[in-house]
Amino acid sequence: MGYGAGAMHELSLMENVLEIVRSSALESNITKVYKLKLVVGKLSMALPDSLQFAFQVLGQDEMFKQAVLEIEEKEVIGYCKECQQQFTIKNNYCFICPTCGKSMIDLIAGRELYLEYYEGD
Ligand SMILES: [Zn+2]
Repeated sequence: MGYGAGAMHELSLMENVLEIVRSSALESNITKVYKLKLVVGKLSMALPDSLQFAFQVLGQDEMFKQAVLEIEEKEVIGYCKECQQQFTIKNNYCFICPTCGKSMIDLIAGRELYLEYYEGD
């Protein structure tokens, strides 16, 4: 896997995540981070593999080099306004209610991308 254009998005995302963890860790006198957990919705446009790659590229300093990155992928959940049903959207580009076939859909999950926690000492 190279430094392709496709991974640039994840590289800058991961740069931001590591920056946030770094300043929070420094404030708490943490010098080594052991684990980071990210929650990534399947519609967030960030691929777990590319995030792992970005983490390997960027996390080479003292604070992060022994850290493990855990990524939890969240399904895309839609809500049909027509029949008030919640359902998982398997095909990311097909926002149609499986019950009534209408497309009056609210997205209630799938776009999230955040750091849930990190551990270190
Ligand atoms: Zn419906």
